Amino acid sequence: MRGLYIHIPFCKSKCKYCSFYSITHFDKDIISKYIKTLLKEFELYKNYEFDTIYIGGGTPSILPTNILSDFLHNLLLMLKKMPTEFTLEANPESLSLEKLKILKEGGINRISLGVQSMDNNVLKFLGRIHTQHDVYKATYFIKKLGFNFNIDIIYDIPTLDEQIIIKSLKKICNLAPNHISSYSYSFDTLFLSESPPVEKTSMYKIRNLLQEKGYIQYEISNFAKPGFQCKHNIIYWKMHDYIGIGVAAHSMVNKINKRIRWSHNTNISMYIQNPCQYENYELIHNKNKLIENLIFGLRMIDGVDIAIPKELNIMSAIDDLIYNGLLNIKGDNVCLTEKGLLFLDYVQEYLYTSFSV
Ligand code: SF4
Repeated sequence: MRGLYIHIPFCKSKCKYCSFYSITHFDKDIISKYIKTLLKEFELYKNYEFDTIYIGGGTPSILPTNILSDFLHNLLLMLKKMPTEFTLEANPESLSLEKLKILKEGGINRISLGVQSMDNNVLKFLGRIHTQHDVYKATYFIKKLGFNFNIDIIYDIPTLDEQIIIKSLKKICNLAPNHISSYSYSFDTLFLSESPPVEKTSMYKIRNLLQEKGYIQYEISNFAKPGFQCKHNIIYWKMHDYIGIGVAAHSMVNKINKRIRWSHNTNISMYIQNPCQYENYELIHNKNKLIENLIFGLRMIDGVDIAIPKELNIMSAIDDLIYNGLLNIKGDNVCLTEKGLLFLDYVQEYLYTSFSV
């Protein structure tokens, strides 16, 4: 499996919690130049076959309809094969029926909608510029055109009554997306505290509610109706190859016994001047490659082939984690238990340290 990621670094305004690279001051001229540059960079990879394409950002849906249409048209002309999954990230306020029709014609078959909450006060607190009304309107059009779609939500927002998040989630379930990604607002602080009961409860409640509604948790933050797991994100978690084009985009390619990573810098003017200038080259040798496979792979609910920790000679660390109720063996795989799902960071750190000593 191989994925292509395309970064669109434009946003109308910056959300409070966001760490992705994007700019908020731009005009049509810079957008046009950037899009042309993306196509130029893609020429490097036109002989590659991609199973999935993900256009993310930033806010890809902010692109003017004519630019979006030309971009997708030119990209499709260069693609060696059509990907099975072709996603575009969108914000509710920037989607219209006309734009969605362009996306459909351009081969997009999946929309990932940044909803985050169905409460207008929470949206304001997060720095989002859409309202609940925009979400209803966008999802009406998305469904009308028959897209497969994901909704992103944020939970565990400090000082916010948990009931508001649950109410929001129920409204989102009623929109019937076939995929829901749930991200913790306080993720960075979640595992630093010895006992974070609020966050834990919140995560448990979200999982239980989504499971009741027929969503299967297949990754620590992701839930899908059967058959609708996000193939592109699975490429990241299973450490398959991906190429990232655009400013700030990252790439990773596996070779026999090694792995290579590189990225673009975070300067849009430099990218436009020279889209084929890469930095942060990193060469990962076999043992580190395996530990990465183990550590990232544990995000998947199915876990990782037990052959990996055996080859790394860290079975005693695996046994410790099993003894503490954080890991479990299922068939040929080692995976997180229900309790382990809440302590992924600890499990990863423990395994990494055992490997290093
Ligand atoms: S719209 Fe998305 S990419 Fe843009 S600032 Fe908000 S969270 Fe970040």
